[in-house]
Amino acid sequence: PSVDAARDSRVRELTRAHVFTSWSAQAEIDPLPLAGGEGVWFWDHQGRRYLDLTSQLVNVNLGYQHPRLVEAIREAAGGLVTVAPSFAEESRAEAAAAVAGLAPAGLEKVFFTNGGAEANENAVRMARLHTGRHKVLAAYRSYHGATAAAIALTGEPRRWGAEPSIPGVVHFWGPYLYRSEFHSSTPEEEAERALRHLRHTVAAEGPQHVAAIVLETVVGSNGVLVPPPGYLEGVRELCDEHGILLVLDEVMAGFGRTGAWFAFDHWGVRPDLVTFAKGVNSGYVPLGGVILSDEIADTFAHTPYPGGLTYSGHALATASAVASIRIMREERVVENAAEVGERTLGPGLRDLAERHEVIGDVRGLGVFWALELVADRETREPLPADRVKAIHRACVERGVWPLMMGNRMHVVPPCVITSEEAGEALTLLDEALAGATA
Ligand code: PLP
Repeated sequence: PSVDAARDSRVRELTRAHVFTSWSAQAEIDPLPLAGGEGVWFWDHQGRRYLDLTSQLVNVNLGYQHPRLVEAIREAAGGLVTVAPSFAEESRAEAAAAVAGLAPAGLEKVFFTNGGAEANENAVRMARLHTGRHKVLAAYRSYHGATAAAIALTGEPRRWGAEPSIPGVVHFWGPYLYRSEFHSSTPEEEAERALRHLRHTVAAEGPQHVAAIVLETVVGSNGVLVPPPGYLEGVRELCDEHGILLVLDEVMAGFGRTGAWFAFDHWGVRPDLVTFAKGVNSGYVPLGGVILSDEIADTFAHTPYPGGLTYSGHALATASAVASIRIMREERVVENAAEVGERTLGPGLRDLAERHEVIGDVRGLGVFWALELVADRETREPLPADRVKAIHRACVERGVWPLMMGNRMHVVPPCVITSEEAGEALTLLDEALAGATA
């Protein structure tokens, strides 16, 4: 990376003057201008390079500037880039086939959107129209996006500013053993009690009024909460009992993040609707979508689906998805995520927890991990924000960039990270934790 102080300050100035930034108090931020990246590294205009443990917003699964993906987008730009959804177009057709090909049999059609929120927005609409019911159940400690229905599904403080939002969404508690709502002491107990709570919620809402249960297969930005054994299977059974649709949000967990193509592959659960975005093309071009079961797709065989987008299946986005899926397959990226998680990241992070009192819990799989930071291991009191910030600063000073969410450090590198790079990241985190908590 080279130093370009003039560029750095011009980008900062223009950003401060004209860019209105997501989720931020505009006068209180000064985002670092980025200059470039390659693989698991990105760098700024000041000549500093960072080992990336964020994948930006947990979406750059193939890492930065993957040459084959960049080339595929260049090539697509030379063709017909914008084709309305009312025409057919080759890369849209190929991308839909490729995405459906990764899903279980019987989920064959794909509705493309520009991102994850629109995917959830449409999944809710599809579920309501297919079932003729209006209620939707979603979990506390979830994030599903920032548009009307998606933010209504969201079960954390980011929803509050958008309320009142759409009616009909009811929240329930999902499993989270470290801070159990159910006083459980084992994963099995947590699964069973969380299922009992969900069953009671469905009964109290009137199962005949519930269109869908929406869940992040592995909860992402609310803490990398991996469902305990039996939980997802139990939710599927409950849905089947009452004709409720199961919508699994794979926006963050899908496309390699957990060491599987879809996170639900780990539990063999077949959803009725799958929402995806982020990793489908590593975010090189905005893209998301909904995969529909044949039954739901059939509802709209002779009745028009009342929804659409100018850019539903934009050629640059879908061409990049086709290329991305091909690269992931040929370069064994999903297998790599599983192996690095199992051999290096998982054991390495657990080892850090043995050495640093501040780490209360380590959880995750693949390249999807969270360290829960606590002020006191006994009481599990969350580490205060200023101390979390200090840990982040110590990491950044050492050239490693983790994603801080509340009192947690999320370790979510690109799925292409090698064991050596993961080892290097662990060493830097170890030094940073020692420095910041000394
Ligand atoms: N669903 C999940 C699980 C997410 O993590 C996100 C974004 O972080 C979304 C949906 C929303 O996606 P987007 O920001 O592309 O609208």
